Amino acid sequence: MTYYCLICHAPYNPAISWCHILTLKHPDILCEKCRRSLFVINGDICEICGRPFEHLDPSYRQGSLCTDCIRWQENHDWKDVLTKNRSVYLYNEFMKEVVSLWKFRGDYAIVQAFQEEFSRAFSQHFNDTFLIVPIPLSAERLYERGFNQAKALAELLHLPIHDILIRHHHEKQSKKSRRERLQTENMFQLAEPISLANRRVVLIDDIYTTGTTLRHAAKLLREAGAKEICSFTLARS
Ligand SMILES: [Zn+2]
Ligand SMILES: [Zn+2]
Repeated sequence: MTYYCLICHAPYNPAISWCHILTLKHPDILCEKCRRSLFVINGDICEICGRPFEHLDPSYRQGSLCTDCIRWQENHDWKDVLTKNRSVYLYNEFMKEVVSLWKFRGDYAIVQAFQEEFSRAFSQHFNDTFLIVPIPLSAERLYERGFNQAKALAELLHLPIHDILIRHHHEKQSKKSRRERLQTENMFQLAEPISLANRRVVLIDDIYTTGTTLRHAAKLLREAGAKEICSFTLARS
């Protein structure tokens, strides 16, 4: 039987073993070439942001942290706001293409390709005592895109999702410098007043780039009483 790869649309013959037949496990929805191009993060990572050290210039590392995280930790306002981020894949060139197909061209079904590794990495780093909070899009962006990619990822976990954040529409982040972004007022607010006293929260998003967006959300949740805020993202750039 011929399958068509969800990403490159090339026909392929999935390897179907006895294991698939006995467990009714579905064959991979990606061709072998695309599956191999997704780089799963493993091994030595920055303790805070989950960045793999393997492909990083050694000058960006100081002990168990990367220099970006050291800068965050040196900043009085942002120190320890985000306990840790863990990402499933490296944001390599291939992942960039996949994410743009998925996010900007609206190929919603692509999220299924991440199902297995996303769930597995989640249970490796977190558990169901964490409140799962997807990073929202602003109403404008949601209208434009048709779906929230962070929520689509959260749904892969088959655990309760808590939409407790609202995001305001701001001009595109990338036009601003890091300093400007840090000084911008919080782009998030709580959907309704709630107490998160003693709760542990895991924010879900697609990409961890600078970690600024996640830290803004984390700061707000901390003010609402959460004792620990982590993030779980599909890819780490
Ligand atoms: Zn393919
Ligand atoms: Zn780091």
